[in-house]
Amino acid sequence: MKTLLKGGTLVSGEGALFQDVLIEDEKIIKTGENLSDSDAQIVDVRGKLLFPGFIDAHTHFNLEVAGTVTADDFVTGSRAALLGGTTTVIDFATQYHGESLNEAFAHWLTKAKDKSSCDYGFHMAISDWNGKISDEIQDMIDMGVTSFKLYMTYDDVMVNDKEIYQILKRLKEVGGITGVHCENSGVIKALVEDKKRLGHNETVFHPQTRPYQVEAEAMDRLLRIAELADSPIIVVHLTSKAGYEEALKARNRGQKVYLETCPQYLLLDQSLYELPLPESLKYVIAPPLRKVEDRDCLWAALAEDQIQTVSTDHCSFNMQQKLMGENDFTKIPGGMPGVEDRAVLLYTYGVKQGRITLPQMCRLLSENPAKLYGAYPCKGRIAVGGDADIVVFDPNASGVISAKTQAYNTDYAPYEGFETLGRVEQVYLRGLKVVDEHQVVLEHTGSFLKRDKFSL
Ligand code: MN
Repeated sequence: MKTLLKGGTLVSGEGALFQDVLIEDEKIIKTGENLSDSDAQIVDVRGKLLFPGFIDAHTHFNLEVAGTVTADDFVTGSRAALLGGTTTVIDFATQYHGESLNEAFAHWLTKAKDKSSCDYGFHMAISDWNGKISDEIQDMIDMGVTSFKLYMTYDDVMVNDKEIYQILKRLKEVGGITGVHCENSGVIKALVEDKKRLGHNETVFHPQTRPYQVEAEAMDRLLRIAELADSPIIVVHLTSKAGYEEALKARNRGQKVYLETCPQYLLLDQSLYELPLPESLKYVIAPPLRKVEDRDCLWAALAEDQIQTVSTDHCSFNMQQKLMGENDFTKIPGGMPGVEDRAVLLYTYGVKQGRITLPQMCRLLSENPAKLYGAYPCKGRIAVGGDADIVVFDPNASGVISAKTQAYNTDYAPYEGFETLGRVEQVYLRGLKVVDEHQVVLEHTGSFLKRDKFSL
């Protein structure tokens, strides 16, 4: 089966060109001007932008956490992803204490298999570390799980400095890459105790127990450990100017440090925690939203190509779940939805406001995550031989984000009322049209993405 997308503007990490795209089965077989093919079904995409399918390298679908389970699983989460132009998610498989990495991987595979409507891979979050687990690292690489996650906070999954050093050394040997949640666990606990002693249980105290110093200190410590282990590092969900400066310092020492941020840290700020209940609960995430100065710093870093990826940390809950913490901020499930809104937000508030360019948007959402997570050149570009994952984006459409129209299994929208420019019209996943006229038309065709070693 052949499909010819005619008349569109093909966006890459380098620029934007008028190019037709010929697809056969799962692959792109030709790009160029004025293509024709008598066997192909012609699709008129004049006036549209064609992006390589977006990759969201930070989602949590079907995650049991905080005594509940996220509102979106792989069925609803992946559907929302496709409507946001995301054709691949890299979710987090978590090794719980006592489990092997192989058991954890098998567990997460069952959550996604035959359910996901977009392609999916997993980072492996390591929480137990010993010789046996170290031996299993090679199994993960062989199965296409080439990126790993470490938490410096959260008692049930965190690893200590000794373990971080040993894990980074081991991953260096096999060419794995490590993403790290950087917050100082001990200081957070002390700050929470201080608030509790004073009877301060309101949501507004959440950000005060996880201030920017907690992120910056953890980043500094992590990056020094990575320096000793001679290992590249990804800092996930960077939020603060102070943290960003730690990354720059490490880069100046010659270290490889990759940075990810998320739309919420670019578009929302900590004043939202002062809203009355239950509104304030919607924005409780960790690390928390920061000040406007931090936001401005992150935008400037994106413009200067100092931040490599924008992912969502999609981790959604309904208001009923959020209300578990209405009288105690430490009991609010942390997280918010985002996988559906990422591209349109970055286009509206990044590209259209002149903060970043169209090729930068393509790099942040597709090319860089493909390279960083070992999916390039199969994913991350529209070029001959690559998977036909293509987003047909109408740059002239406009809309307003609302909980009433979103695809999430979530009853509120953190960006409620935000005006958007551009719309995902069609999405092709390995040559199959999965979205048409901004409706999901084909479900559950996502495949597990076996990834290579990183190459950014
Ligand atoms: Mn996360």
